[in-house]
Amino acid sequence: MPYSDDDTVLLSAIEHYAYCPRQFALIHIEQVYEENVFTVQGSGLHERADEPLTTWEEGKRVERALPLWSEEHGLQGKADTVEFLPDGRVRPVEYKRGSRGTKRHDDLQLCAQALCLEEMLGVPVPAGAVFYHASRHCREVAFTEELRADALRAVGEIRELLRAGRTPPPANDARCPNCSLVQACLPGAICAAAADPDGEGEEADP
Ligand code: SF4
Repeated sequence: MPYSDDDTVLLSAIEHYAYCPRQFALIHIEQVYEENVFTVQGSGLHERADEPLTTWEEGKRVERALPLWSEEHGLQGKADTVEFLPDGRVRPVEYKRGSRGTKRHDDLQLCAQALCLEEMLGVPVPAGAVFYHASRHCREVAFTEELRADALRAVGEIRELLRAGRTPPPANDARCPNCSLVQACLPGAICAAAADPDGEGEEADP
């Protein structure tokens, strides 16, 4: 099904949405963006990976900042790197700040890149990897049927939010302290106001 420009989902939006739907909406609907130490580190990494470049490393061709798209799924974006191995395998690799760990939002974004590559190149892309800068660890990610279904489900939910122009309420949980948008989001204040809409909370002791 062909998608209009308005209905096209950015690959970066999938990571934001999978981390927190409100973070996605603040960035992609309300156009809010704030730097914190994590995004500054992350953008530094991406600036290096954002320069289009073809290199050869240990017999494999490595394309950096490769544009990706899928007409079938209405996706568009860029891969940090895509490796073309001598045996014909194609492997997207994303670079992230931080240490190793299974991070579902990273995996969903990478899987969506694989869906684009499969459509663009007409070859299966069964696996990729996430490289964690702080720990210098490379984690392999298999693009299982479950991961593919979850990625496409996220894309559908993102599209619905974009069409509705709706920003979900704050999560106000363990994700918030490390979120780049916590100052703009105000999760604690909004949840407190929702819990006490008349502002009649207990008075503090004098
Ligand atoms: S501060 Fe919390 S609720 Fe707000 S966008 Fe970030 S993770 Fe989501």
